[in-house]
Formats: sequence, C-alpha cells, structure tokens
Amino acid sequence: MPGTTHPVVSLRDVSKIYPPTTKGGSPVVAIDNVSLDVEAGDVYGIIGYSGAGKSTLVRLVNALERSTSGSILVNGQNIAGLSERELRPIRLGIGMIFQQFNLLNSRTVAANVSYPLEVARMPKAERVARVAELLDFVGLGDKASAYPDQLSGGQKQRVGIARALATQPQILLADEATSALDPETTHEVLALLKRVNEEFGVTIIVITHEMDVIQTIATKVAVMDKGRVIENGDVFDVFSNPQQAASARFVSTVVRGVPSAQELAVLRERHSGRIVTLSFRDSVVNQSEVFGVFAAAGIAFEVIYGGINEIQGRPFGHLTLSLAADDATIDAALGRVRELTTVTEVR
Ligand code: ADP
Repeated sequence: MPGTTHPVVSLRDVSKIYPPTTKGGSPVVAIDNVSLDVEAGDVYGIIGYSGAGKSTLVRLVNALERSTSGSILVNGQNIAGLSERELRPIRLGIGMIFQQFNLLNSRTVAANVSYPLEVARMPKAERVARVAELLDFVGLGDKASAYPDQLSGGQKQRVGIARALATQPQILLADEATSALDPETTHEVLALLKRVNEEFGVTIIVITHEMDVIQTIATKVAVMDKGRVIENGDVFDVFSNPQQAASARFVSTVVRGVPSAQELAVLRERHSGRIVTLSFRDSVVNQSEVFGVFAAAGIAFEVIYGGINEIQGRPFGHLTLSLAADDATIDAALGRVRELTTVTEVR
C-alpha cells in the first residue's frame, strides 16, 4: 500500500544453529525462533547475560552470520537467502562499530574512514571531501593524519563511528561499543551516537551490558535469554516493571537499588525483621501512603537498602525494608501494600 511504513529491521522466526564445536558434541542453538521489529528512528538496546545470543542476533542483521531459518527483512527486503554479491549494496546501508574499534593500525585516521568509500568505488575528490566532513562531525578534524595508536580509546571509537557512517547507512549496529571506555568517555561517545540518531535519523541497534547506555540513548529494549527474546518494549516499562522472571533477574543486576543475593544475606544477618523490597515508578505510587499502611498497623519499619534510577526523565526505584511485628499483622499490611505497588519478599 502506498504510504505504508514497514520496520527498518524485521526478524521473523529466526534461528541460528552452530554446528557442534567438539566432535560428538551437540549443535549450539544461538538464536531460537526470534521475532523482533525495529522501527525507523529507534535506538534499540539488546541486553542479557553473556552467551544469551546478542552478538549473533546483531550479526545476522548485516549477514556477518547467516541464519539457519526464518526471514530477516532489512527495509522490507529479505536478506536471508541472498548471495554475497546481492548483499553488497545492502551492507552499504548498515554500519557497524565494535568494542575493540577494529581500526586498521597501518592506515591513518582519514584512510580508515575512507576505506569503505574506496570499496564502494567513490571517486577520489568526492571521497576526500566526505572524509573531511565525517571527521568534522565526530570532532576529529585535526587528527586526519594521525595513526590509531596515537589516539585515546574515545577518539578511536569516534573514528569507528565516522567510518561506519561513511556510506550514509540508515542502520548502525553497535556491539558493546563503549564497554572498553571509561565513564566520561562513554558519555561523549553516547552523546555522539545520540546526534547520529537525531541529526541523520539513523536507526541504531546497541548491544550492551551497561545501564548507562540504556539510560542515555535507548528508546526500546529487548531482553535476551538462551537465544530467545523473552521481553521487549519501551525501555522505561521493561526496566521499571519487568514482566518475566528471567528479565527481572537480569534487570535487577543493572538497576540501582535492588540488593544482590550476597547483599541480601548480609542484610538478613543484620536485621531480624521480615525483609521486603518495594518498587516505585514515576509518582504513580505514593510513598507516604505505603509507609502510612505500615505505621497504621503498628509495624516498626526500617529502610535498609535502596536506590533511584531515571530513564527518559522518569524516575523509578526500589526500597528494601525490614519489618518488625507479628506475621499476621505484616501479612495483612503487605496485602494492602500489594494493591499500591510491587512487593517482593525474600525469605
Ligand atoms: P552474547 O553476545 O549474548 O554473549 P553470542 O551471540 O556471542 O552471545 O553467543 C550465543 C551462543 O552461541 C553462545 O552459546 C556461544 O557460545 C555460541 N556461539 C557464538 N558464536 C559461535 C560460533 N561461531 N560457533 C559455535 N558457537 C557459537
């Protein structure tokens, strides 16, 4: 239909099975029947424990890995069955940046950025102008003749970004692109990626294990576990109120305010009361009302752990309390509090 928009990337029932890595071993199901849509302009975060399938998923999008089954639509075109030659023009529309930058150390900064343009056979004069423009955009106009070894990590990643943008892709894939950088440099690189998204309308898919990355730039997020996307959607919703036990477990490792198993063990040693964790999102939950329930029931409560996060300007957080009273009184109060917010009791 004219005017109908389609997702920029659309995966349908995609699986990727690697052959056994040892003789007599079992095949590895790296991606297990995944369906996912990435819309134009999204900054889509892919999160999950190591080995969950994040890298494989992203590498399927530019056919660095080929799927075993399912369809992978890029701008509406199924790339799953294409030959290397047929893939070439599609790959020009997809840039990628890496944790270890993957720059060519024997080439200058300008020559690194120029590389994909040489492969695309852009005439020299045009290439030189385009490289200058890209280096200006990433703030490295004065480093054109430097070599990668002479640059800081943040500068190297900015060269990586300039190179990835050289062919004017509509899609940028980022595989742990800031994981090798310190927090301050991470923020500079994230600010640059945000500009790439906003000024050029580039759709970005980012693999990350860093809360910072999600908080700063992601608009949507997919949580992966054992090759599957177990939960996905608006980043605030998934982080402040995960629906699946496995995504709640992963999210609790990256958000502030949820005690780890070890921290809970220490809290339990220190406090004799029943320990509950309460979640608060936006100002939907009135904290005074929650505390009022405990106070009215005559329960002595103490806040023993907590933290507030902010995603897209919206706060959410977790408070862990130790409650002292008889069990029946606490059960009745928790029943009332459960109507107001999510309560997790760890016994
Ligand atoms: P993540 O990026 O979430 O850490 P990966 O996509 O790298 O996960 O890996 C997913 C699974 O696929 C893991 O079990 C990994 O060992 C396996 N895997 C990845 N690449 C290969 C490969 N080339 N050959 C065999 N198994 C692989």
